[in-house]
Amino acid sequence: MASKGKITPMMQQYLQIKEEHPDALLFFRLGDFYELFHQDAIDASKLLDITLTKRGKSENATPMAGVPHHAAENYIARLIKQGKSVVVCEQVGEVTGKGPVKRAVSRIITPGTLSDDHLLNQQESVYIASVVKVKKQYGIAWAECASGKFSLDLAASESEIIEKLTQIQPKEIIKPEKLSLDTKALTSNRPEWEFGYERCYQVLTEHFNTKTLDAFGCEKIPPAIQAAGALLQYLRYTQKTQLHHIKKLTVDTQNAYLIIDATTIKHLALVKNMDGGREHTLYESLNYCKTPMGQRLLKHWILKPMRDFEQIQLRYQIISHLIHIGLILPAQSLLEEISDIERITSRIGLLTARPHDLLSLSHSLTKLPELKALLQKIPGHGTHALSEALVDCSHEIAQINTTIDENPSAIIRDGGVIQSGYDAELDRLRSLSRNSSEFLLEIEKREQDTTGLSSLKVSYNKIHGYFIEVSQSQAKQVPSHYKAKQILKNVHRYTIDELQRYEQDIQHARLKAIEKEKTLYQNLLISLQSSIQTLQQISQAISVFDNLVSMAFIAQQRSYIQPILVKDTCIEITNGQHPILSQLLKENFVPNHASLTPSQRTQVITGPNMGGKSTYMRQVALLVIMAHLGCYIPAEYAKIGPIDRIFSRIGSGDDLAAGRSTFMVEMSETAYILHHATSQSLVLIDEIGRGTSTYDGLSLAQSCCLHLAQKIQCLTLFSTHFFEITLLAQHYPFIFNVHLAAAEHEQELVFLYKLMQGAATKSYGIWVAKLAGIPDSMIEHAKVILNTLENNQTSSPPPPQQLAILEQVNLSKTTPKQALQILYQLKQTGLKLSIED
Ligand code: ADP
Ligand code: MG
Repeated sequence: MASKGKITPMMQQYLQIKEEHPDALLFFRLGDFYELFHQDAIDASKLLDITLTKRGKSENATPMAGVPHHAAENYIARLIKQGKSVVVCEQVGEVTGKGPVKRAVSRIITPGTLSDDHLLNQQESVYIASVVKVKKQYGIAWAECASGKFSLDLAASESEIIEKLTQIQPKEIIKPEKLSLDTKALTSNRPEWEFGYERCYQVLTEHFNTKTLDAFGCEKIPPAIQAAGALLQYLRYTQKTQLHHIKKLTVDTQNAYLIIDATTIKHLALVKNMDGGREHTLYESLNYCKTPMGQRLLKHWILKPMRDFEQIQLRYQIISHLIHIGLILPAQSLLEEISDIERITSRIGLLTARPHDLLSLSHSLTKLPELKALLQKIPGHGTHALSEALVDCSHEIAQINTTIDENPSAIIRDGGVIQSGYDAELDRLRSLSRNSSEFLLEIEKREQDTTGLSSLKVSYNKIHGYFIEVSQSQAKQVPSHYKAKQILKNVHRYTIDELQRYEQDIQHARLKAIEKEKTLYQNLLISLQSSIQTLQQISQAISVFDNLVSMAFIAQQRSYIQPILVKDTCIEITNGQHPILSQLLKENFVPNHASLTPSQRTQVITGPNMGGKSTYMRQVALLVIMAHLGCYIPAEYAKIGPIDRIFSRIGSGDDLAAGRSTFMVEMSETAYILHHATSQSLVLIDEIGRGTSTYDGLSLAQSCCLHLAQKIQCLTLFSTHFFEITLLAQHYPFIFNVHLAAAEHEQELVFLYKLMQGAATKSYGIWVAKLAGIPDSMIEHAKVILNTLENNQTSSPPPPQQLAILEQVNLSKTTPKQALQILYQLKQTGLKLSIED
């Protein structure tokens, strides 16, 4: 960088602002462009694929890159998508020609604080979280700028805070600089004092206009208050406005939800598939919501299913009524008319709502009475709160409809947004500029008469304003007071004082009209701000109802049934189907029973590769999740008892995880389950222990199975290729074998996909290899080897003495080196182990 002395005043101004925002890309307004300098320019040129140029003389030229101001939103959106923050700096002063124009930061856009419509995905919520550590506890708060949702909680340990964060999946995390967090999310450091308790308490009570935080139930969790207070300060700092749409704090305790950890969310493809897309996910399969906020709520529900059976039952009842009274179609056609009230309301709070936002809001609100009437047709008290929330909004509708033009321009600075007749002063200013044609005709007539020039015309264009135009041949005869303006090939253009004065007046009136419109529009937004809470309640009720209607629609279309919820932990499903695969395969899908009870709590599942093991296991978990959403499920009969958590782990040898997972990951994920599962949990273990040598894999798999079955006593689906594990059922009454059937038919292997009692007698690996196209000669060779091996095999499994060793260690905190030591200890028990990798 050049020494300070040589820097231009404009550059000094730049550097000063940049110093305050070291982590963001600074868009610095210069005329019609936003320019980026130094490292920002180099980064942006790569991220946006724009040209990197230089400003200044060659030896100390500054790298520079720019984007035209009218296209900036698009570029900003692309940077945000790539996880960058952007600071927009505008010219705020008049251009005087002396010294640089005054500039100030107008917006700070960070990945976690988006609220602009074009920066957001309609179906996705964008959260920002704030974390602080106080002694041994962690406080956490998280918010969604686009909806005004604001929650907080405590966490007792680092692993708990990380778990919480993986559930929230914030796009950005703020924290004090000293705190280190093991997360992949973008983190922004904030000054320590912004997290101070007194300050935070004050910031929150002032914002919510309350004396204490009692009403929100968060008095007893100071660290959470610190996280929340710091977050609110950060949101204010980035949004540069009061956050009128943040109306309450919600303490979010985990007990209310069926907890599904991040790995399980991924493995079950709840909201994203393995490639990160939406296809073939539970979300896609259940999303028949008509409103954007309904769709976002569904995602939220799927990731946090309810545990309160009474609440779930209420949803079942409403679904049943919707089907039986025949309300699904009328409800859907009403819901289709409703736009994103939630986000529009937030933009009213942030004063960034556009004219079209308000018109769609008003249109949506006109549907409320019909929607309310429809809700009132549903018997029972389940919909009472929903219909209560749909209050009369004729006042808001009138406010909008009497102010905003029916056909407004997209942005307020273009004018034409406020209706004529709404404000007398605005009408006057507008008529000044509109009645110009008469006045111009008058001048034209007069000038033609006085000069006698037949070609003389008075015209206007956007670039040159008003002018008198004369054909080239008559140009010599214009009077001397005509001032030349422009000479074209066939015509010459002039102006006169009167026209210039007129032009200035009109220009002035036009600017004043736009200023007036801006003020009127702003006033409308401010007066609508008093309805934010009502609008948020309406939006919430509509999104819940939208989901219930969607669930009823699916239940009816696909003949799903209502699960029976019972007090004792159990899962009993007759002819259940995989909700996604059965939609794809239709009648070719083979339904299966599932039965897990405390006395028969561990299913050891065997069967050939590709036989349907993983599908069956995921199906059970998905049906349990659906039942907890209040959704009907694809089965003939289902009885489900309380479940607190669902875990699902996939062995590193399995196809799905091939190349992505290592044995170490598999083991630490397994350790996580062993530490967090309870007797009310549902655990899916899909072929663990394959990423290492046979014997240590087997011993770990077997001890894991026993630990779950005997110590934790959770409900377990345990698929394996280790034949030895099927022998456990002989010794433990709560472990039993099932297999997915396959049959040999005329030298061919046929998958039946049917779950049968007992262990598979054959693993058919060689058959599957044959199906996959392995050459016959090799298949024959493999069969010979298999025969020899099977004849030499010992008939009893290795004893589970490894369990004792595993119990002494805390696997979740195990380093690779310690893992080796454990394996070594296991080896000491007399097992043949090869320690590699
Ligand atoms: P495994 O885990 O035993 O190797 P998968 O569960 O991955 O087998 O199933 C392999 C394939 O078999 C699936 O992709 C699906 O096409 C088919 N399949 C599995 N279960 C069923 C079923 N119940 N009905 C019909 N096809 C099934
Ligand atoms: Mg599998």
